[in-house]
Amino acid sequence: MAKIQSIRGMNDLLPADSALWQYLESTVSGVLGRYGYQEIRFPILEQTELFKRSIGEVTDIVEKEMYTFKDRNDDSLTLRPEGTACCVRACLQNGLLDNQQVQRLWYTGPMFRYERPQKGRLRQFHQIGVESFGVATADVDAEVIMITARLWEQLGIREHVTLELNTIGSLEARANYRTALVEFLQQHFNDLDEDSQRRMESNPLRILDSKSPSTQAILDQAPSLMDYLDDDSREHFETLKTLLDAAGVSYNINPRLVRGLDYYSKTVFEWVTDKLGAQGTVCAGGRYDGLVEQLGGKPAPAVGFAMGVERLCLLLQELDKVPAEIAADPDVYFVVAGQQAQTAAFQLAEQLRSQIPALKLQLHCGGGSFKSQFKKADKSGAAIALIVGDNEAQEGVVNVKWLRDEIEQKTIKNDQLPALLIEALNGLS
Ligand code: ATP
Ligand code: MG
Repeated sequence: MAKIQSIRGMNDLLPADSALWQYLESTVSGVLGRYGYQEIRFPILEQTELFKRSIGEVTDIVEKEMYTFKDRNDDSLTLRPEGTACCVRACLQNGLLDNQQVQRLWYTGPMFRYERPQKGRLRQFHQIGVESFGVATADVDAEVIMITARLWEQLGIREHVTLELNTIGSLEARANYRTALVEFLQQHFNDLDEDSQRRMESNPLRILDSKSPSTQAILDQAPSLMDYLDDDSREHFETLKTLLDAAGVSYNINPRLVRGLDYYSKTVFEWVTDKLGAQGTVCAGGRYDGLVEQLGGKPAPAVGFAMGVERLCLLLQELDKVPAEIAADPDVYFVVAGQQAQTAAFQLAEQLRSQIPALKLQLHCGGGSFKSQFKKADKSGAAIALIVGDNEAQEGVVNVKWLRDEIEQKTIKNDQLPALLIEALNGLS
């Protein structure tokens, strides 16, 4: 019978890679916890309306990337393409933003977008997202950026990512700029790429984001959003820059950085790397002061970001920054042959697990010759093999064989084993 395959762009995470994911997730959640951020979990499926209203009708995501379907009740549902809208929905529904509360939250999980699958671009991908609600001042923008900078430091990739920073001002400033930009671009309409021509009507600011070199060349002469900024946004941006300077975080001001979602205002930023080809943005975010109100809440300022787990894992691998100690290799492989030996070894293994909680012990199951078991012990990556046959079982001893070091094999009493292992595998904690 034909084998059933997974859906294109939706990958399995295999054991060989899951340790890296766990390492990344625990490093991130560790840093976030120390900054006072708490985890929130929400469903993968939401009403389609949530994303239309928040991300914006004329964005790539809503126009062509959402997995939307009718359920058996004829309701239109969508697999979440991102987490911010869901997070706001969950906060409002559960009263987390009542009485102007400040909330520092993070989430992780799969997101779904119908895109062309390629390296670093999938249809089911994973994000770790951070949202901070209730603070309007630029100190919290700086805080969320500092979180990411510290994280890159901990992951050992700090010098391989750069921070692109911009401010897109208030809604009103953007509307004024939009008029000026459209006026300018209309004079060059025929030279714009097709996508940009289409966006003239629907979402002209996104033209700044165009990948077309000829459009980018035209944009060199275009009016700059910076000249249209409102005073509040300008001051906000200055404060943010001062705080980042004080923290020693460098950045590139990129006036063309506008981000693909409608809900942003003021600060926008991206962390990019040149090590992953075209999919070089590993983390992106910004301020979205209008979104909470837009989704039916009392107005609440907010800022956040999301990072792409797959892209970060690729980057860690590319830069050889996967720590060796996250490997799932056992410390000890327990070789056992004989009826009596099986019972004795099983008991001894469980005792060791109680006595040395951090010990990674692989007990051989399923029988087989000593020779074949030794092969498995060697392949397992374990540092030490423990060997018990029926004779050893009777005498209450065990043979200890070092698999990686030139140390002579030893026979010792069972009750001396914990001390020996703790010493031999120093650093077990
Ligand atoms: P891009 O410009 O690469 O399409 P985006 O602006 O659509 O990214 P965001 O919505 O800001 O991305 O998502 C934040 C992060 O999530 C991105 O910086 C990236 O690391 C990751 N990401 C987004 N889309 C995908 C995808 N299809 N596959 C893998 N990772 C993704
Ligand atoms: Mg995209």
